Amino acid sequence: MKLSLLTTYLESLAPLAYQEDYDNSGLIVGNPEQEVNQALISLDCTEAVVDEAIAKGCQVIISHHPIVFRGLKKFNGKTYVERVVEKAIRNHIAIYAIHTNLDNVMNGVNERICETLGLTNCRILNPKNGLLKKLVTYVPTEKAEQVRNALFHAGAGNIGDYSECSFSAEGTGTFKGGEDTNPYVGEPGTRHYENEVRIETVYPANLESKLLMALFLAHPYEEVAYDLYSLTNQHQQVGSGMIGELDEVMDEGEFLFEIKEKMQAQVIRHTAFTGKSVKRVAVCGGAGGFLLKHAIAAGADVFVTADYKYHEFFDAEGKIVIADIGHFESEQFTQQLLYEIIRKKFTNFAVRLTEINTNPVKYFI
Ligand SMILES: [Zn+2]
Repeated sequence: MKLSLLTTYLESLAPLAYQEDYDNSGLIVGNPEQEVNQALISLDCTEAVVDEAIAKGCQVIISHHPIVFRGLKKFNGKTYVERVVEKAIRNHIAIYAIHTNLDNVMNGVNERICETLGLTNCRILNPKNGLLKKLVTYVPTEKAEQVRNALFHAGAGNIGDYSECSFSAEGTGTFKGGEDTNPYVGEPGTRHYENEVRIETVYPANLESKLLMALFLAHPYEEVAYDLYSLTNQHQQVGSGMIGELDEVMDEGEFLFEIKEKMQAQVIRHTAFTGKSVKRVAVCGGAGGFLLKHAIAAGADVFVTADYKYHEFFDAEGKIVIADIGHFESEQFTQQLLYEIIRKKFTNFAVRLTEINTNPVKYFI
């Protein structure tokens, strides 16, 4: 199939608009039109992973971490980043990264950590602002349901676990068509009064063009009256980190032992135990230190994350146990997640997991 079919599907689950500013998710190397029949999944796209893709006949590497973060100015093989990109291009291998956009969605990196740790009632720890907008449109009464259906179908009206959310109020619209118009009701040159329904509904900003297209197709008027509003509401289903609960409380040592086993962590660097039992647990795959205040505010007993620095550990202040399990360890099950996502959707497409452990950190125990 075409590579774009695969990437468009992945981006319907984890839209590129949801990635962080510093990130570089998306198609990094390759042509969206190229044919692919086999993908290799990895956390990092190293030279060894590109070699593995060549050996296994995979035309695309789906990697969590983008191989290119900043602009590359030279390609003379001095750094591993240059060598990976050059080797991929020479061998017609595409590289696609699905990074913080997969961190920031409900069914992404952090949900997989929550599942692995056996947490329930999970929600986004730090939901994002500025991703939601509101559409208001005015529709002749008999076409209101048709327009509502079209808007919902295009992705509007989702609030938390509720779908098809909208508000309608009846009123009177007026319009007077110019000489060259062909109004749906009334006559050109005469002011017309029409019973209309004002429909308002919320939508994710990244779906705006799709939504407007659906509106214009479903609305009977030549000139559709509509307003678009920016909202400052949080998007409950998009954002960083996650918080959930254990079914039964555990003591802190017991829980850390459990993390070690379930997350296959060789070492956990952690702050002093608080002496409280563990019920609520916040998680963030990769470097999650920026979420500590959110974890504390949400009442988490333990914060499972990675990449903590010495001084940052002091910020626990005896309120929470920070458990740094290692970057690779925290995100390793993302490979399996991607495998399952692609496998389920494209049943005739071959997906393979890398056999290389790309963790650059070794433990001398
Ligand atoms: Zn990471």
